[in-house]
Amino acid sequence: MSQKNLKFDTLKVRGGYDSSRHNHSVSVPIYETAAFDLGSTDRAKRLFSFTEPGFIYTRLSNPTVEVLEQRVAQLDGASGAVAVSSGMAAITYTLFNLAENGGRILTTPYLYGGTLDGFKKLYPKFGISIDRFKDFNNPEALAKEIKPDTRAVFVESISNPNTSVTDIEKIAEVAHEHDIPLVVDNTFATPYLLNPIKYGADIVIYSATKALNGHGNIIAGIILESGKFNWANGKFNHFLEPYYTLRDENDRYRNFLELFPDFPFTTRIRMNYLNYFGSSLSPFDAYLALIGLETLSERVKKQVENTEKVIGYLEKNDRVSWIKYPNLKNNSYKKLAEKYLPRGAGSVFTFGFKGTDSEIDKFLNSLELFSYHTNVGDSRSLIVNSPKTTHSELTPEEKKLSDLLPNTIRVSIGLEDAGDLIDDLEQAFKKVSETSETREIRSKEVIR
Ligand SMILES: *Cc1c(COP(=O)(O)O)cnc(C)c1O
Repeated sequence: MSQKNLKFDTLKVRGGYDSSRHNHSVSVPIYETAAFDLGSTDRAKRLFSFTEPGFIYTRLSNPTVEVLEQRVAQLDGASGAVAVSSGMAAITYTLFNLAENGGRILTTPYLYGGTLDGFKKLYPKFGISIDRFKDFNNPEALAKEIKPDTRAVFVESISNPNTSVTDIEKIAEVAHEHDIPLVVDNTFATPYLLNPIKYGADIVIYSATKALNGHGNIIAGIILESGKFNWANGKFNHFLEPYYTLRDENDRYRNFLELFPDFPFTTRIRMNYLNYFGSSLSPFDAYLALIGLETLSERVKKQVENTEKVIGYLEKNDRVSWIKYPNLKNNSYKKLAEKYLPRGAGSVFTFGFKGTDSEIDKFLNSLELFSYHTNVGDSRSLIVNSPKTTHSELTPEEKKLSDLLPNTIRVSIGLEDAGDLIDDLEQAFKKVSETSETREIRSKEVIR
């Protein structure tokens, strides 16, 4: 079946899968095996010289995992994909694959806490410096931050937790003028809300743990590439290294660009990082991710609707000092959200709790329906005090740099009935007011 012209909703249930190659199984089979029979020494020779495509060992590739890779690639218009065992592995392998000879990554302070802390603690020890730049949506200013050894620009399309929206098209232009790729962590948006490659992104990363899978039951990551970046531009000579492991049948050394011209980036991650650092995705988890993907549009659409309803309630609540969600009237990212996120700005937002620390504790402890944990994009709604949990790695100064106010509450809205969610928030706010000593809102203690 040619899958060229199929629409998003068809691809999300059928993309990347040909049942005739899998005993006509309607559901994608779980290939729970470590290795694959080579068949004969002749076939082994063909497999190892890349003259016949096939599976050898699940650390490298696996048929169930491959369906997931191909399906997500189709949803995002990517030329290649590689699945890994977590979003963090996806980020690390991507940035190492870009800057493994040493260099800089230009990024923003508006990132997932684990990403920020890894950048600070570990990357410099591997010879990779991280530059964090606040004014990233300003192309002229951004261009000035790119140094001769900058190897990539890394951004989140919708940032965690404060949902700043990135002007992907403009940033990609600046990056390309400097012969470096733009890497976009598109976890919050999912391919349903935004396809970064359409706007010039070269590499797209997902924590599939989140809304992509959407059921809070696996840890997984995916890396996609556009197939359009010129890795032979002189800045990425490691892509041109001839490898004995890529030799042809006559033992001639080859490089990744030569052998995999359409998807050299993800293949290089597969053959080097997945192969030797080893964070492979299990076939069973890939299967769960495929099931999750089947309802991506339906889930995200309802989650966006629910989010807008819950925000509508919070906007009228006098315990709420501010709300950050791109589609709101006064949000500084509203224009960008209209351009990049016409189907909605996702299911995650933050708000400022007007009250003391102990009142925040009381509020969180009083919620009965919302789960209190550090995930997002689950089918169940969750709520968390980000500065003390998901972003607790950040020092007070770093929190300031990331505009993470101490009274920040992050919410990820699920698939429940919106009225039930609002009732739960209402009863928790009431409990805080009942126990608050002054029964007034002590706005003086509040930081803005
Ligand atoms: C959760 C998250 C990650 C890390 O993904 P894991 O699957 O938890 O390793 C990376 N980026 C963003 C934006 C995230 O929300």
